[in-house]
Amino acid sequence: MLKGRFPADKFKEIPTPFYYYDLDMLRETLDVATKEAGRYDYRVHYAVKANANPRILSVIAGRGLGADCVSGGEIRAAVEAGFNPRNIVFAGVGKADWEIELGLDKGIACFNVESVAELEVINEIASRKGKTAPVALRINPDIDAHTHAKITTGRKENKFGINLEQLDSALDSIARLHSARLTGIHYHLGSQITDLTAFQSLVIRSNEIQDELEARLGLSLENVNFGGGLGIDYYHPNHLPVAAFESYFAVVHKLLKRREGQQIHFEPGRSIVGQCGTLISKVLYVKEGVTRRFAVLDAGFTELIRPAMYDAYHRIENITADGDAELYDVVGPICESSDVFGRDVELNKVRRGDLLALRSAGAYGEVMASQYNCRRLPASYFSDTI
Ligand SMILES: *Cc1c(COP(=O)(O)O)cnc(C)c1O
Repeated sequence: MLKGRFPADKFKEIPTPFYYYDLDMLRETLDVATKEAGRYDYRVHYAVKANANPRILSVIAGRGLGADCVSGGEIRAAVEAGFNPRNIVFAGVGKADWEIELGLDKGIACFNVESVAELEVINEIASRKGKTAPVALRINPDIDAHTHAKITTGRKENKFGINLEQLDSALDSIARLHSARLTGIHYHLGSQITDLTAFQSLVIRSNEIQDELEARLGLSLENVNFGGGLGIDYYHPNHLPVAAFESYFAVVHKLLKRREGQQIHFEPGRSIVGQCGTLISKVLYVKEGVTRRFAVLDAGFTELIRPAMYDAYHRIENITADGDAELYDVVGPICESSDVFGRDVELNKVRRGDLLALRSAGAYGEVMASQYNCRRLPASYFSDTI
């Protein structure tokens, strides 16, 4: 099938709205990501929170990637899908006791620790179990990733990570705690980052931090984890479907002062799954307003919340009509004014019953669906079984 073409005839037999996943697109993306990371022997942990659909997870696990989890539920989903616990890392600013216990019981690779308070709890739980918890400090590098405010995480004022000023006290704690072992450092700048200079700044900052830790404490870090955040092209899903993995890893490689035997890790989420997923929705009504024309869909922010929550753009196509293009405000049925997918969207003339494709919805789409307004969660279909 041509890129960006959908089996619309088959779609007509399926109740809408639903997610459609192109597994060839996913595999092509994984091919590029693993090949480019492999050049430098970098480890890739897929960020499960971007899409935890079991079928998607199993395809990714089957390619030997690790998993980056942010909850106990994600650890369970990852293990069930076939990820090796030894390749699972666990981040999150609010890990509950049961989640820490689960991580220890499964024998995950690393807890990415976000505060001294958390470090103490992990140490206590590990001690009770007679285990040693492998921990990495998630450092907040105070770098502006130039992305949407709601998805930037690496600034001083964000809740994530340990601020540079507080690094000393975190290191003191680790030295005191006998059931936690420092295995490395971790960063995560934010999401949908398309300007690679943010990652350059991160590597430079990390090199400095590493120098300082080595000089002051004689520490050598086994692991450096640069987190996720690589963006995708929401405007050109057909022409540029695979994220810039080649230049991303090359930029890191060029600047990184990698120590002998040190392992370098990444946690891409969106850039792995974003382009393989599409939300398919039916037009319920074409509503002529006073100044605007609305295409009212049977999908709303309950199926895809990114436009409402992050002002995100998704390319929208009418896949069942080929009439002349007209402008529509594409809206959902939810009783909230923010339930708008796009304004002045150019679509082939829309009629009731047409199917619209909301593109690049594989990341933070299905996984964020809700039952608000007592709606049903969307089903998912896959290119190889439809
Ligand atoms: C969300 C998140 C990621 C993945 O971010 P993407 O933008 O989807 O690549 C990676 N690491 C951590 C710690 C995260 O919270």
